[in-house]
Amino acid sequence: MAARAPFASPLAEELAGDVLERFLRYVRIDTQGAPRARRRPSTDKQLELSRLLLGELRELELDEVELTDFAAVFARLPGTVDAPAVGLIAHVDTTPDVPGGGVEPIVHEAWEGEPIVLPGDDHQVLDPADLTELAARVGHDIVTSDGTTLLGADDKAGIAEIMAAVAYLARHPERPRAPIRVAFTVDEEVGRGAEDFDVASFGADVAYTLDGSGLGDLEVETFSAASVRVTIRGHSVHPGTAKGKLVNAVKLAAALVESLPRDRLSPETTEEREGYVHPHRIAGGTEEAVVDFIARDHDDAALERHLELLHDLADEVVRKEPRARVEVEVRQSYRNMRPYIDENPRVVEAALEAIRRAGVEPRLAITRGGTDGAVLSAQGLPTPNLFTGGQEYHSVREWASVQDMAAAAATIVELATVWAEPA
Ligand SMILES: [Zn+2]
Repeated sequence: MAARAPFASPLAEELAGDVLERFLRYVRIDTQGAPRARRRPSTDKQLELSRLLLGELRELELDEVELTDFAAVFARLPGTVDAPAVGLIAHVDTTPDVPGGGVEPIVHEAWEGEPIVLPGDDHQVLDPADLTELAARVGHDIVTSDGTTLLGADDKAGIAEIMAAVAYLARHPERPRAPIRVAFTVDEEVGRGAEDFDVASFGADVAYTLDGSGLGDLEVETFSAASVRVTIRGHSVHPGTAKGKLVNAVKLAAALVESLPRDRLSPETTEEREGYVHPHRIAGGTEEAVVDFIARDHDDAALERHLELLHDLADEVVRKEPRARVEVEVRQSYRNMRPYIDENPRVVEAALEAIRRAGVEPRLAITRGGTDGAVLSAQGLPTPNLFTGGQEYHSVREWASVQDMAAAAATIVELATVWAEPA
């Protein structure tokens, strides 16, 4: 039997039981969103968890507990001192990419370091030889699914941590704290988490999403992102009489994709701060074909260059086949939050200090994706992303360490205290 790993701090240890109990309860509720749905939320089942949280927040006697007309749960915990109001944000939905109903969480207590074979599908193995973050957590209490579904730590770990932290703060009015604003949003995984989010009625001066991963990470940079649709119009003719007339949009679309750089500028060849253009969908026929791309970079100027490249490659299609018509539509998705966060350095300093007080070494990180915080930051609410302790998101091998989740909850409590202190 491996010795059980210690907690990051006495506060983390005190919070661990509540965080785990909540987490196990929340992940059993199926909250998958649906892509390309018009309605909001994209699925009604997300609101099952939202309603449960409304009830629990009312039991904790938080103020102004409500379901907003953009389907977010809002609540307020008054401060004990006059200080900036701190927003805490997580999302109730889970990714539609992996089965998410009927989650049966398993707690591997004081895990001894052996490969974890998930009992619902013995092809699904969490092998510490492949997973360095897992290998570093011998002795931790590791939570997994049974291997047939995702776990849902993204983002129910964040929700459980916020709830446990807020419950603790409400029970300890003697502890100085800044005013707290809580928000649980829907449809983050389908890119609509911050849609219609009313920053003014939320009433926070600064905010943090609890939607990160590795212990101690504070993400202050996201990608800037755009989506691009290239529509190629050919000329369809019966193949029996097509000589000299047919202009085949299928072949032109294939040539466009083929003309992309091979060894760079793609998700599969880049990491860290390297951006990319990524064709993720192709559809059509001889008359018309559509290629959908996403373009990503941490640097806005570099993103513009990636978009220019796509324009150039699209122009090249018409240069080679002047009878074709090509249309390029660009839609900006979100911006790197870094410049907005840099305007208020205390947002980062306070979080780093709170992580330290929770007994964890903080680490500034970048994310190769977007967050709700990127959208909110651009709207004037600086919102970096804090770790939750979940790992291997969007897969049936998703796992979370109870010790790390408890450290995240302790970080939130400390954050309320740090913001209550004079700047
Ligand atoms: Zn998430």
